[in-house]
Order: sequence, then C-alpha cells, then structure tokens
Amino acid sequence: MYIDCHTHLDFFEDNIDKAIEDINNNEILTLANSMDIESYIRNKEYSRKSKFIKACFGIHPWKAAEYTGDLQELISYIEESEIIGEIGLDYLWVEDKKNFEPQRKVFNFILEESIKRSKVVSIHTKDAEEEIYEALKKHNYSKAIIHWYSGDISTLEKFIALGCYFTVSVDIGYSEKTYEVLSKIPIDKLLIETDGPTALEWVNGRYGYPSEIKRVYEKVAEFKNIHIKELMVTIEENFQRLFSEGI
Ligand SMILES: [Zn+2]
Repeated sequence: MYIDCHTHLDFFEDNIDKAIEDINNNEILTLANSMDIESYIRNKEYSRKSKFIKACFGIHPWKAAEYTGDLQELISYIEESEIIGEIGLDYLWVEDKKNFEPQRKVFNFILEESIKRSKVVSIHTKDAEEEIYEALKKHNYSKAIIHWYSGDISTLEKFIALGCYFTVSVDIGYSEKTYEVLSKIPIDKLLIETDGPTALEWVNGRYGYPSEIKRVYEKVAEFKNIHIKELMVTIEENFQRLFSEGI
C-alpha cells in the first residue's frame, strides 16, 4: 500500500471528490494534515468518506498568529487526533517578524501536550531547524515526522541521531538538495509525501493529485536502487514502527 505521510486535502477545494476517488482507487493511506481547527473539521469530514484518510489536527505556523483562542481549548483536539500535524515554525516564508512569537507559543504548547500523550507529530521546520531540534531533544522525543526537510545537513544529522523520521516530497527529480537529504536519511526512517496539490504546482506548475505519490515512490526507489515493491514494504514498516517509538 502507498502511504502519503503528509498532505493537505482541504487545498483541493472543488476538486476534493476527484482527489478522494484518486485515493480510493489507488489505496493510498493518507495523513490529511490541518492548517487550523476549521481545516481539521473539514479533514474529519473527508475521513468519513474514505477508510484510507486519517484526519490530523494541527495549527500550521502560517496560521498560528491568527489563533486568538485559549490554548487550553486545543487539548480536546490533540486528545482526539491520533496524529498531530501540521505544526512547526517558519521564519522563512512568514515575513512579518511580529508573528514569530505567536508561532512559538502555539507550536510549543501543541508539541508539549502531544509529547505528554505520546502522539506522532508532523513538523514544518523552515529556517527554524535548530530551534525545533532543541524542542524535541529537550524531551528526547523521536515520534516525529520531519516534513520535507530542506535545512542544513549538520542539523539534519542531529535529527537523525535523535531518531526522527523524515518525508521526501514531490520536488524529487527536480532538486539536488532533496537527493542530498535522501542520501543521508537512514532507510528505516524514511517516509514519503505529496503535501497537497499546490506543492507540485510550486515545483513544476502542474496540479498534484494524490496519485502523484507513485512518482515520488518511483524516484526514491530508483535513487536507492531497489525495487518499488521493496520500498513499499519498507515505508509501511517504518510507518508502523513510528507509532511504537519510545514505548
Ligand atoms: Zn504541509
């Protein structure tokens, strides 16, 4: 079975039915990451339409400054959601520095509450790699999917030593950096993702339906010089093992 370890189904908007059909036809186990509460509610609706979709609760760093509610109100969502995502920090694409402190507040709160409950967390680390590494290291926590890593190799090595998991995304075949990162990730920590329809558009201008995951698998298998079936088994094993980390 293919596993898409990080995507955004609510970004499909009017094309959502086509996207869900694509997931069902290709039997892609899909982690539907959320941007905020509203997005999580939508992802839960989609998860009712397909046994392959898991809705994940999170507040994305781009949305963190907009969250004005009490942080305690997030606990019931954290408890309910089997996997937490997308959370993180972004000091690259978020230009307004006033938003950095609210980002830290929301991220650290959700991370700490998730760690208490031993949840798998999916983390966005743009230009905040060291800070996120320190936050995980403080708890020696490795039930983390470091999503689409693109930072320094020296920090990547620290995340690897901590025992984290990593996704490779749709820029494979287009980015030298992705091959460099892929060559460092231990094969037993590797996961694969598509990051929604707009990620591929950002890479090559094409709209990315969920079955784009097949091309990512093919490219990874080609690079690792293994059969695609072998890669599928490895990714499935990695995904299962992620939930038993630290237990
Ligand atoms: Zn994402």
